[in-house]
Amino acid sequence: MRKKIVAGNWKMNLDYSEGLALFSEITNMVKDEVTGKQQAVVCSPFIHLHSLVQMAKGYDKVSVGAQNAHQAESGAYTGEVSAKMLKSIGVEYVILGHSERRQYFHESNELLAKKTDTALANGLKPIFCIGETLEERNSEIHFQVIKDQLVEGLFHLSAEQFTKIVIAYEPVWAIGTGLTATADQAQEIHAFIRAEIAAKYDQQIANDTTILYGGSCNPKNAPELFAQPDIDGGLIGGASLKSRDFVDILKVFNA
Ligand code: PEP
Repeated sequence: MRKKIVAGNWKMNLDYSEGLALFSEITNMVKDEVTGKQQAVVCSPFIHLHSLVQMAKGYDKVSVGAQNAHQAESGAYTGEVSAKMLKSIGVEYVILGHSERRQYFHESNELLAKKTDTALANGLKPIFCIGETLEERNSEIHFQVIKDQLVEGLFHLSAEQFTKIVIAYEPVWAIGTGLTATADQAQEIHAFIRAEIAAKYDQQIANDTTILYGGSCNPKNAPELFAQPDIDGGLIGGASLKSRDFVDILKVFNA
């Protein structure tokens, strides 16, 4: 059975003490309220990560992730952080290819393929984001855009490597806009992604791949989205900054 995951993406929000306070609320609520096998992953800015990893000890339903990592192992890349550094402090996941990184930092599928290789080589689990813009959906090229992102960003991986990947489908037009894909729209793309994985690797690997939905997900719309057969959780931006909302989304998977 594939893993159900709700990952929070704090983006560039919360100073150090605010981040620790929010994380502490989340771990306490998860301990008291989460009854299923679902996993919370909190992806904070770099400055919080070491402390969050320490605080997460003893809470096996809460993991910690970064929001980016560089493609090189090390070197003269001022201001960057490597996958090895993240691994060395106990970080488990890393978001790669978020649409904000693709848009503002011009991260291409080719670059993201390299980042994925380096993250995997250092034992990190990538949460690999894909999704179309509104223009692309309106031009009806969204399936092709998503296929290209998969093929160019991930499908060079061996089957063994691919089993470490979590995919997040995030339609760019739904991120931070309050516009959510309908459950049918999201399911259609998730089923497409799973079929592409089955065609490239095999049906078992496709069945075992966790595919998250992201884009204005909240406690109200999460139950319908997560009830879809190919939606295995969410990547949550805005609502992950409120412990109550984040944990309520996570609780959609309560047994
Ligand atoms: C995101 O940034 O990954 C995201 C889904 O943001 P929001 O939930 O705020 O739309």
